[in-house]
Amino acid sequence: MSHPANEPILGFAPGSEERIALYAELDKQMSEVIEIPCIINGEAVYTGTTTTQVIPHKHGHVLANVHLASRTEMEAACEAAVNAQQTWIEIGLEARCEIFERCADLLAGDWRMRVNASTMLNQSKTAFQAEIDAACELIDFWRFNCHYARGFHDDLQPLVSPSGVQNSTEIRPLEGFVLSITPFNFSSIAANLPSAPAVVGCTGIWKPSRNSYLSNYILMQLMMEAGLPAGVINFVPGSGAEITEVCLDNPNFAGLHFTGSTRVFQGLWQEIGLALPNLNSYPRIVGETGGKDFVVAHPDCDRQGLLVALLRGSFEYQGQKCSAASRAYIPHSVWEAISADLVSEIEKIKMGDARDFTNFMTAVIDQRAFDKISGYIDRAAARDCCEIIVGGGHDDSVGYFIEPTIIVTSNPTSETMVEEIFGPVLTVFVYEDNKFDEVLTLCDTASPYALTGSIFSSNEENIQKAFNALRFTAGNFYINDKPTGAVVAQQPFGGARASGTNDKAGGPLNLLRWISPRSVKRTFDTPQTWDYSFMQPDHD
Ligand code: NAD
Repeated sequence: MSHPANEPILGFAPGSEERIALYAELDKQMSEVIEIPCIINGEAVYTGTTTTQVIPHKHGHVLANVHLASRTEMEAACEAAVNAQQTWIEIGLEARCEIFERCADLLAGDWRMRVNASTMLNQSKTAFQAEIDAACELIDFWRFNCHYARGFHDDLQPLVSPSGVQNSTEIRPLEGFVLSITPFNFSSIAANLPSAPAVVGCTGIWKPSRNSYLSNYILMQLMMEAGLPAGVINFVPGSGAEITEVCLDNPNFAGLHFTGSTRVFQGLWQEIGLALPNLNSYPRIVGETGGKDFVVAHPDCDRQGLLVALLRGSFEYQGQKCSAASRAYIPHSVWEAISADLVSEIEKIKMGDARDFTNFMTAVIDQRAFDKISGYIDRAAARDCCEIIVGGGHDDSVGYFIEPTIIVTSNPTSETMVEEIFGPVLTVFVYEDNKFDEVLTLCDTASPYALTGSIFSSNEENIQKAFNALRFTAGNFYINDKPTGAVVAQQPFGGARASGTNDKAGGPLNLLRWISPRSVKRTFDTPQTWDYSFMQPDHD
């Protein structure tokens, strides 16, 4: 079966058609304040209890008023999902795939700039970061998920059907509804979490992040335009804690599809455990969570390649990627050679409004993130073991801006070397050139996370040594490349340890979590007698 191709990334070069269209869409979205409803059973519900969405790099600018769900809407959403399931199953895989492939086509075409512009404004992404996330990655998720789901129907069929018998496997979805709780930082992940289970026949609730309501709502509208039937995905802005409570009170809760922080996911898992006696099924729990992603360099590495990987890997999208490089182990000789250049390149980074395409960075997502990240920087500045060699400044007067920051530490387990900061902060531990083996052990044991990581070396033996020593330290492992930028169908994404259940979004394994197959045996020669040959008496 031939497979889809990854969606090509538009370049947005000066004067290009796409750049002109994107400017126009940005201006349009900045000139209006829209009302965002809940969408329950295909209907817009304006609750009157609202919150605003602002532009993180210009937080005085309101983009939308969002109508938040109360318990009543949350309960209605659960009921709508349950009621929609039978029909959604019965239209069959092919019809479901046609809808999601239509979603991909709409996003690749007329909806592309609308979705990109909303991601730039709502989540403060540059044009390029919005394009690779909200357009390309989501188009890929939708197309490849359909491709993988079609594959199950053949691959999961029983190998043997003896004469007179026909064996088959029905690829049923989970019985009940799936709750998808989504993060702010990727529009693609936000839409993929509810739609991946839907491809295989699940229905559910989509609880978007409070920091990405605008882009997520536009994606919900896109799915409806593509023909998603009422009730299959119910869009419910509101309190995550309350939605979880309502869903767990409902015996039809069948699964959680989560991406976000480790702390929240651990709490949700515990709550599900407590609710178990009230539920009809054992729910599936899939969660992709935090990271403390590393770069380990060997003295024999490509130094310029390392410099570029550190800069892009740490500071693109202000370090707000679960895969962002945030700790680096660099040998003394290499650090001597690159640190001055690295600092001078970082000083060239322009930071500001996403509409100004010369900016490489914009703002972090909100006041809470700003306070948390600047707290890490300020505490490091006060520690004897840490030195801030570039950046460190922060200013939230217009937008939530934090300078790209590098901390050099002499303590490999200091706070910023082991905890997830989720901002533009890289901490570097400089090691003696002959301590590569020790540094691999340190990298493996220093942090509870195990999401992504890179090894830089030009020698195969050293690469293999790191590959083996860091087997369980990252679910996505890069050799001579930055630890970010996984592509659907190329590097299925996810990590283990405190980083998640490693169910690999962007690959077939994730979809398998949302099915509960039924094995069917059909006999054409139904036995007409009940006794067996062994029961005959022995001959004398
Ligand atoms: P977050 O944990 O703050 O929020 C994620 C979602 O959980 C949001 O929708 C939020 O409203 C909801 N939530 C928060 N508290 C809740 C509660 N008590 N009950 C129910 N729901 C609740 O994360 P975020 O700030 O949106 O995203 C950043 C985090 O996500 C980082 O830790 C990052 O590493 C992680 N992330 C991981 C991956 C991955 O694939 N591993 C991808 C993207 C982001």
